[in-house]
Amino acid sequence: MIDQRTVQRIIEAANIVDVVSDFVSLRKAGADYKGLCPFHSDRRPSFSVSPARNICKCFSCGEGGSPLHFIMKHEQLTYVEALRYLAKKYGITIEEREETAEEKAAANERESLFLVNEFAEGFFENQLNETEEGRQVALAYFKERGIRPDTIKKFGLGYSPESRTALTDEAVKKGYKLERLVQVGLSVQYDESKPAVDRFRGRVIFPVRNLGGKYVAFGGRIMGKSDKIAKYLNSPESSIYSKSRELYGLYQAKYAISKADKCYLVEGYTDVLSMHQAGLENVVSSSGTALTIEQIRLLKRFSENITVLYDGDAAGIKAALRGIDLLLEEGLNIKVVLLPEGEDPDSFAQSHSSEELQQFLDEAETDFIHFKINLFQEEMRSDPLKRAELIRDILRSIALIPDSIKRSVLVQSSATELRMNEQLLIQEVQKFRKAGVRAGGYVKVQTNTQVSPQANVPIKQEDFTQKVEGKDEEQLSSAESLEPVRTNALQSYEIDLANFIVSNVGKNFYLELFEENLDEEEDEIKYEEIDSVVLYIYEFLEDSKILNELSETFKLLLEEAISYNLDSERKFEDFLLTHQEEALRRLSTDVISAKYLLDRKSESRLPYQEIFDENDPRAKERREAYEQKLERQAAIERGQKVNKLLDNLQLYFLKKSIFALQQEIRLAQKEGDKARLVILLRRLSEMNSFKVELAQALGGRTIQH
Ligand SMILES: [Zn+2]
Repeated sequence: MIDQRTVQRIIEAANIVDVVSDFVSLRKAGADYKGLCPFHSDRRPSFSVSPARNICKCFSCGEGGSPLHFIMKHEQLTYVEALRYLAKKYGITIEEREETAEEKAAANERESLFLVNEFAEGFFENQLNETEEGRQVALAYFKERGIRPDTIKKFGLGYSPESRTALTDEAVKKGYKLERLVQVGLSVQYDESKPAVDRFRGRVIFPVRNLGGKYVAFGGRIMGKSDKIAKYLNSPESSIYSKSRELYGLYQAKYAISKADKCYLVEGYTDVLSMHQAGLENVVSSSGTALTIEQIRLLKRFSENITVLYDGDAAGIKAALRGIDLLLEEGLNIKVVLLPEGEDPDSFAQSHSSEELQQFLDEAETDFIHFKINLFQEEMRSDPLKRAELIRDILRSIALIPDSIKRSVLVQSSATELRMNEQLLIQEVQKFRKAGVRAGGYVKVQTNTQVSPQANVPIKQEDFTQKVEGKDEEQLSSAESLEPVRTNALQSYEIDLANFIVSNVGKNFYLELFEENLDEEEDEIKYEEIDSVVLYIYEFLEDSKILNELSETFKLLLEEAISYNLDSERKFEDFLLTHQEEALRRLSTDVISAKYLLDRKSESRLPYQEIFDENDPRAKERREAYEQKLERQAAIERGQKVNKLLDNLQLYFLKKSIFALQQEIRLAQKEGDKARLVILLRRLSEMNSFKVELAQALGGRTIQH
């Protein structure tokens, strides 16, 4: 663990111009520097570096932050790794915090396992390139598979010789403990009475590296054909390797993935190698197993755009589709490419030029949902029951997507393709969501999806429109289709409030008192001073039960803001710049950049000297009074701003509740439950008048219908 004081020293030493210059060529532009953004393909220099603020920011893609953040993002390092990088750059000795005995033991064990693997990696590489057996058997095999020498080197491919104990013997001779070799699975001891043997003997080796580049596992493939042994053999799980947390090729691909903002997902090791050879480096493999949630979250750090490449055989594809639901649920944008029959990514990449490959991928890429619809087109046509099942399956997949706008766009296009009524599909997706549908888990939902027996006959809207009475119903269904837009509004209210919090931690504000509280004789507006704007926001959100509806990032920000030590010399926004949570670092960068732009605009403000005559004996007094007045004015504005932000949020949730209430009313009408109807209608009228009140407070701008 790095000692907190050292962290502080590193952060203070790191100079943004210095750090960025190592990767981007910068030129001076006024007080700042400019260059081509390394995070998107930038044609004009959009990347601005401010030495004064010690931050960088791309005005095109929005990426940027403190030196630490820049290094984390650019070099794809973790927080601690980036700190070490900067410490090295600035010659700062890292003071480690004293670790407990257990921490030390665990760290030592992990460290020694990494060392054993590193040794083995070198051994395998050496066997491949420097021995007669390796060259004749394994190198010839790679050559035959079309794998080039530079690729072999880049991925550290190797060979484990036929001899039963070659690696084990060599490692023990070099002083590595047999116990460690067994722990990482390089050696296997089947029986205590017998000597340990090499796990991978007679196989070519694909080393698996973690994000930081350390060797965590190996995959070994037999070269000839054999029915007896598995084609691939992998390292077992150990304290440094968890299969579900690693992606093959990510270490080599991470930078390319970030840069292209896209990742290709393939199945096998050789698919990754061949794609690299064809010039496409943003590719990883889940090593033939189903994707896990940890792998997906790992990928998501680099890009949200994932394109899955499938071999052209239909049976395999249908089985593999399940894994995609997980990707959808994590909010990733999923595209699919189906390779021509008989091809896999490996063979296809090898038989086409890099331009052809890229062009094919660009053209063949389809949205996952439409891919699914097309894939089952044939079955749906021939079997109406199957059709119903598949439609439910597709809607269920759509329901997993967290972003409501994406959902509604997909529903719309699916409706066209499936020739179904869009409203009905919206309702079905809504039902899945209400039932809390999850990828993998199956949730039973009552649906009334009806399916035309002859799918080729266009379905008439009337077939599906539920018979409803009164024009209220019409409003309800149109409100439902407005849902996505409103969710988007929530996000922007949340961001506005978050920005406000970042800039106003530790500040007070003046709250305007309502007229009732005033003496009628007075016509001056009265204010009450509230000490902490952050606590006020917290209490408001908590009391109005809004807090739980907001995002985790927002809640975390609020927590940090409340617990922030106001005596700290660092500003809250600077504290956030080095926060572990990326979303918070970004937020603070945005706030600082926005302020910076504002500051520069207001530079033309009159300096004090020009307002107050320095020679006037009362100048100091006047100046203080003037500053107080400015401060009070700012506190009043703060009060107006915070209430506006909170009102916006409250109005949003009120509208949502009204919508839910209207549905309840509809149900009560249908069931003829008069007593309940009376109660519900009264509640609706209360809510509506509150809505009008809020909207008026907000200047009437927010009333839309
Ligand atoms: Zn950019």
